[in-house]
Amino acid sequence: MASATRPTVGFIGLGIMGRPMARNLLRAGHPLIVHDVVAGPVADLVAEGAAVAASPRDVAAACDVLITMLPDSPQVEDVYLGDGGALEAARPGWLAIDMSSIAPRVARAVAARATATGADMLDAPVSGGEPGAIAGTLSIMVGGSEAAFDRARPLLGVLGRTIVHVGPAGAGQVVKLCNQVVVAVVIEAVAEALVLGTKAGVEPERIVDVLQGGLAATKVLEVRGPNMLAGRYEPGFRANLHLKDLRNALELAREAGVVVPAAAGVEQLMQRLRIAGRGDLDHSALVTVLEELAGARVCDGPAGPG
Ligand code: NAD
Repeated sequence: MASATRPTVGFIGLGIMGRPMARNLLRAGHPLIVHDVVAGPVADLVAEGAAVAASPRDVAAACDVLITMLPDSPQVEDVYLGDGGALEAARPGWLAIDMSSIAPRVARAVAARATATGADMLDAPVSGGEPGAIAGTLSIMVGGSEAAFDRARPLLGVLGRTIVHVGPAGAGQVVKLCNQVVVAVVIEAVAEALVLGTKAGVEPERIVDVLQGGLAATKVLEVRGPNMLAGRYEPGFRANLHLKDLRNALELAREAGVVVPAAAGVEQLMQRLRIAGRGDLDHSALVTVLEELAGARVCDGPAGPG
């Protein structure tokens, strides 16, 4: 299992984020065992030196530390708690790190089941997107015990640059939802401004140039603005995943007794994007909903909405 210096890592969920993260662990010298329900990314990592296991339980049995990077709460419950799930092989000394973005309530429940076996578990969702996953510069917000965090820290250092222990189990997911509320509301604000300015007769590129030099400057406009200007929305971060985060944020707000009117409004616009059949585009495609409502386009390029 563990090499002399580096623990054996299991990795489940080799999508847009998981695949480059797993690759970075392999390149850092960790023996790696991978699993996904889709064959293509598994084959790619095996070609680069990873081993493969047929079920989450088999991955868990063969590794010291399991990392999961799955779409949402149901997949995390399935991988950890389902038939042939990872917790069937959980044991004292074993560590699980779920880096998916899921509901804090589910993160706390799965962690309680893991720790009941004597194992440790952290929730450690990330920010920084596919470029951050490839470069190993993600921001990682970690919930769980201090001891588990200290143990995970060197491994997380391979994947990210800003790594903060934010509280007990579930706290990482709470902070991630705060992050997703900010990003969603800023995308909506940027989209709204570009549609307004364009329909009122100003070139959108000029609007961006000026906004980025003043108080309105934002990383969202820097990173996603080019999509809106070009009318191209390859993900990136799929709008359906952001819709999932907003729904988890609304659930958290209900539990915590908080009103989140801006997040609730953007959830409805993201819902409209999904109904229109564009939920698998990048979340910056939210601008296409505002374009339709205004009867105007930011971009006259060939791609257009969709
Ligand atoms: P993705 O859909 O590209 O990848 C998910 C992977 O999980 C896929 O390869 C899928 O086949 C696999 N999977 C699904 N169910 C499975 C199961 N039961 N067993 C094994 N494998 C299974 O998603 P992504 O963009 O990589 O995002 C993963 C998580 O990270 C999500 O929670 C997302 O919200 C979060 N996130 C994404 C980004 C981004 O920019 N893409 C940024 C930060 C956080």
